[in-house]
Amino acid sequence: MSEEKSLNFIEEIIEADLANGKYATILTRFPPEPNGYLHIGHAKSICLNFGLALKYGGKTNLRFDDTNPVKEETEYVDSIKEDVTWLGFSWANELYASDYFDQLHQFAVTLINKGLAYVEDSNADEIASLKGSPTEPGENSKNRDRSIEENLSLFAAMTEGKYQDGQKVLRAKIDMAANNMHMRDPIIYRIKHAHHHRTGDKWCIYPMYDFAHGQSDSIEKVTHSICTLEFIPHRELYDWFIEKLEIFPSKQYEFARLNVTYTVMSKRKLLQLVEEQYVQSWDDPRMPTISGMRRRGYTAESIRNFCERIGIAKRENLIDVSLLEFCVREDLNKLANRVMAVVDPVKLVITNYPEGQTEELVSENGPDDSYGTRIVPFSRELWIEREDFMEEPAKKWFRLAPGAMVRLKSAYIVKCDNFQKDPDGNVTEIHGTYITESKSGDDITGIKVKGTIHWVSVSHALQAEIRLYDRLFKVENPSQEEGDFKDYINPDSLQVIENAFVEPSLKNAALSTPYQFIRKGYFCLDKETTPGKLVFNRTVSLKDAWSKEVKKA
Ligand code: ATP
Ligand code: MG
Repeated sequence: MSEEKSLNFIEEIIEADLANGKYATILTRFPPEPNGYLHIGHAKSICLNFGLALKYGGKTNLRFDDTNPVKEETEYVDSIKEDVTWLGFSWANELYASDYFDQLHQFAVTLINKGLAYVEDSNADEIASLKGSPTEPGENSKNRDRSIEENLSLFAAMTEGKYQDGQKVLRAKIDMAANNMHMRDPIIYRIKHAHHHRTGDKWCIYPMYDFAHGQSDSIEKVTHSICTLEFIPHRELYDWFIEKLEIFPSKQYEFARLNVTYTVMSKRKLLQLVEEQYVQSWDDPRMPTISGMRRRGYTAESIRNFCERIGIAKRENLIDVSLLEFCVREDLNKLANRVMAVVDPVKLVITNYPEGQTEELVSENGPDDSYGTRIVPFSRELWIEREDFMEEPAKKWFRLAPGAMVRLKSAYIVKCDNFQKDPDGNVTEIHGTYITESKSGDDITGIKVKGTIHWVSVSHALQAEIRLYDRLFKVENPSQEEGDFKDYINPDSLQVIENAFVEPSLKNAALSTPYQFIRKGYFCLDKETTPGKLVFNRTVSLKDAWSKEVKKA
């Protein structure tokens, strides 16, 4: 480890708990609800929970919070497991809150037996009308003083399916005048005749989140149950259930949820983007999902670094997506082999190079020897980038222009002699001559040129589709804007270039191998590549073009 980092507030708590012997070892959990794909906010929670356990020699459970039967799907469970694993973490146990349904039901019976829970006949509206407000106490329900026997038999009837959805609920008997509204006899079980992805049709009553979460933590003996700030008001209830049930004292701690600029972070909103086809899928490379970022070419290491860098806060904040991109660039700069690809091609003919001849040039794969080299074929006709030629060069233009010289990367110096245009004024072909003794590495000409451009040999190049991505939204915080967040979608978030050319070494490009297309950015192969068609995603540009744009505006 390099510099000593100060502890965050959760680390301070853990170190104190371990030092004073409160726990011998720590157990954390990551508790996703399997109702969508994980996003970068979840990555923050994963890195925190698993990271703390790793740091302090403890363990982390993966617990699916599947108490809500209608919204959950096995597809989501599988994707969550894949994403956590890909991020580089392994869980001690794969668990499901639904595994505890019997135990939770037993806990409910225990509370009834202690006179701490009762069956309520009123419907949701009636319950709400007696709840009071933050400034006024609520009123006791007429069912509050039912006998234990009556409650036990009504709860048994609920469990057996004698009632319709909403006809009865089980409530904790706490205090209708409590300052904390969550303590005003909260509902702990409701009737829902619905099929559950794991328990099937066994149950027609399901525990509420507050009655499942803390007890699940306690059953597993989780020591530090870390969640986001919106659960602060739930903490009193969390502690109340544990105390009254006399079970393992798990403790809840809250940190600020991660928000990132130019995107949205709720699964409900992300689902809308998928269902209403604003994006292709959950793993669309523009999505803030872990699977989208993976497909786009972000590395797990860069996401972990990002989460580490932002630290943990006790107040909501909005993190600039440029920081995430910075972390991605930083990692890819180390990992990516440099190759040549021409995104917007125009032909350069080297008129003094023999027709039909090919030379195999050696090109470095990276900034130092450790990256190794590869062979790049060179011939008379090359594709170069349209933007590397200027008919009437600007000041300080060091690339191609009539009469100007430029170095072709890993090859020769070439001088532009003339060019052709179509009737619309577009340059169609550039003609030049190369200087035979200027070969990279063996240059004996002494000619100094300031610019180097990339190229690919026309007869050897592979045609490729290149997908360029921009921010999914036009505004920093779409969820905070007036109206529907979807009104702020950036219509130009995807640009597809069908006619790009890449060097032949990319024939064997593999998914998940990062490349730097020199001067163009970091790219990776997309899973939609077929034997007949290469598709590349731009992971991130080489420099932060966006922040410049924002400053200009
Ligand atoms: P969403 O609002 O996106 O649906 P959620 O909180 O309902 O998120 P869960 O599946 O319940 O999603 O979350 C699993 C864990 O991840 C929880 O502990 C939750 O607090 C945490 N989490 C979710 N979103 C974020 C976020 N943006 N930043 C940090 N942690 C998060
Ligand atoms: Mg949730």
